[in-house]
Amino acid sequence: MKELVRKNILNVKPYVGGKPIEETKRQLGLKEVIKLASNENPLGPSPKALEAVRKAALGINRYPDSSGFYLKRKLAKALGVSAANIVLGNGSDELIDIIIKTFVEDDENIVTSDSTFLEYGIIASVYGRKITKVPLRYFKYDLESIKKKIDKKTKLVFIANPNNPTGTYVTKYELRDFMSGLAQNTLLVMDEAYDAFIDVNDFPNTAESFRNKNIIILKTFSKSYGLAGLRLGYAVANEELAAFMERARQPFNINSLALAAGVAALDDKEFLLKTRKAVLEGKDYLYDNLKKIGVSYVPSITNFILVDAGQDSVGLFNKMLKFGVIVRDMQQYGLNNFIRVTIGTRKENERFIKVLTKILRGKEKP
Ligand SMILES: *Cc1c(COP(=O)(O)O)cnc(C)c1O
Repeated sequence: MKELVRKNILNVKPYVGGKPIEETKRQLGLKEVIKLASNENPLGPSPKALEAVRKAALGINRYPDSSGFYLKRKLAKALGVSAANIVLGNGSDELIDIIIKTFVEDDENIVTSDSTFLEYGIIASVYGRKITKVPLRYFKYDLESIKKKIDKKTKLVFIANPNNPTGTYVTKYELRDFMSGLAQNTLLVMDEAYDAFIDVNDFPNTAESFRNKNIIILKTFSKSYGLAGLRLGYAVANEELAAFMERARQPFNINSLALAAGVAALDDKEFLLKTRKAVLEGKDYLYDNLKKIGVSYVPSITNFILVDAGQDSVGLFNKMLKFGVIVRDMQQYGLNNFIRVTIGTRKENERFIKVLTKILRGKEKP
């Protein structure tokens, strides 16, 4: 059937997500399985969002509000921007798609880093756009080398900040240097999916600079608000750019449950604080205990940690799976000796450390 398919699609490497809990239980006959593989919120969804979803469910016979009026108004107020600066997406994944199809011509290219969010490469290849991936430097985006790869035909630069899967970040000074002298026809996409977990002072404040510069900021409700399953993200951009992106989206890309949940989640400051506290405490716990068992890791400002497996990543993933602990092997990201572990609840973190310790001591059978 290959003859029927566009050439670009033949070259797409399918996305492989975190292994689902139910599938693992079924395949391995396990009763208790924990998933620390997809950077989800371990505390569940925002309770206020959940309540709003219940109410909104009664109206799903109607099409959703295509303009996302209430959510945009609320976001605009919270961010100090205008509603015209906001584009809603079915997760920030969809916004990456909208951005590429809105801005990148056939003969133009995209530049990003190696070992970063996989969707940039996957969506670029669906559209047949050339994407250059610059190797990491000490697990960080190498902005100097990225800048050297930008040519006259470079329309987009994707920067995941902080980066997934390394948890590292680009500082405001590094970003300032990178942007000085950046070509006028190059758009910079700052993907800030983990902004709620940041605990450093030199993180760039992109919200200050998007108006006059070619910057598009991406945010998501998936991680901090615990709404990954509903699919809701947004872009903040210059009004004109935002209006062009609006043309390229589907009219009902955000369903009515997600719209309602987003509005309610923004009021759930309590849940956000609780989540942040759990992540920061969990991070300290994991750091301490990884050190105790002599396992190294990359310091992270997110809700996940890149851990040196000291062995083949897929091997360790499979061993942990037998104990009912799902982590993420980093083969797809070109980090063959690393696993990525999402910071979970206290109990989940303890179980992760217990299982990892057992495996490293050679007790590989549960
Ligand atoms: C999780 C993640 C997203 C995707 O978020 P959705 O809104 O769920 O599509 C985007 N960018 C990065 C870097 C992520 O890790």
